[in-house]
Amino acid sequence: MKIKKSIITGGAGFIGSNLTDFLVKNNHNVIVLDNFISGNKKNLSHHKKENVRVIKTDISKNEELERYFKGADYVFHLAGLAEIIPSIKNPKKYFVNNVLGTLNVLEAAKKAKIKKFIYAASSSCYGAAKKLPTSEKSKIDLKHPYAVTKFMGEELVMKYASIYNMPNISFRFFNVYGPRLNTSGQYSAVMGNFLEQNKKNKPLTVVGDGKQTRDFIHVYDLVNAFLKTIKSRTVNEIFNLGSGKKTSINDIAKIFGGTKKFIPKRPGEPKNSLADISKIKKKINWKPKISIEKGIKNLLNS
Ligand code: UDP
Repeated sequence: MKIKKSIITGGAGFIGSNLTDFLVKNNHNVIVLDNFISGNKKNLSHHKKENVRVIKTDISKNEELERYFKGADYVFHLAGLAEIIPSIKNPKKYFVNNVLGTLNVLEAAKKAKIKKFIYAASSSCYGAAKKLPTSEKSKIDLKHPYAVTKFMGEELVMKYASIYNMPNISFRFFNVYGPRLNTSGQYSAVMGNFLEQNKKNKPLTVVGDGKQTRDFIHVYDLVNAFLKTIKSRTVNEIFNLGSGKKTSINDIAKIFGGTKKFIPKRPGEPKNSLADISKIKKKINWKPKISIEKGIKNLLNS
């Protein structure tokens, strides 16, 4: 079988390293570009050098990315800054990383004439969506610089697809969880916090009344959607990427088990979020397979 060459920006992070594992299993050689600010070399240490080349670089500063892209078949652009509160405190940093960084990666990919470009966009573009489940056609409502910069990145990706005829796809991620999820940051996601608290036998910090709901998608389902997409002919499309199921934070806490501690509500966050995934189901013939119960059990054992 022919070995494919893939570039993953942010490949040492939670999603990127899971994607690296999956692509290597599926006969890809991977070049990881990462600045190791949130990514970690340990996430990739189990790979052989001939399968995974790891390069420390900052996509927002390196305008000579092209040399790594030569001969590449696929580009997965996952690098970016991901937290809401820090983006409000430092919007310029978010603009440089998420918008300028995306522009640099697009330029390099355009010159390399790659077969597919995958962009990690965010469901935060819907703000507090009025209609649930939320389809790709729903109104864009950007509530903070993080949402603004991820959406600007997406606009660039889609404009490059139409102006330069690039084979680009944008995935709007809902709440992704799974092994290697960040558990240490002040602003880590609920699954990472609960995992850490469970391990340390501490009460689970439930925000507000815990009745708010999210659409949690397991990272294995997510990378499977990527693989199916690069094999498909579909280009120049935006897809929601979620499980299509809603789960409350209280339900998540129940699956983890143990005691709960209620903490104050976070300003500006939506009460509910749920993806309409009918478009990706139909066009890519993908569907999520990992239930939330199974996904959390797997996380607790990982
Ligand atoms: N949350 C929580 N406890 C935590 C962290 C988050 O109850 O320790 C809640 C948070 O208020 C939100 C939901 O879990 O309603 C998902 O938060 P997360 O930061 O994981 O993702 P978001 O959807 O806010 O981007």
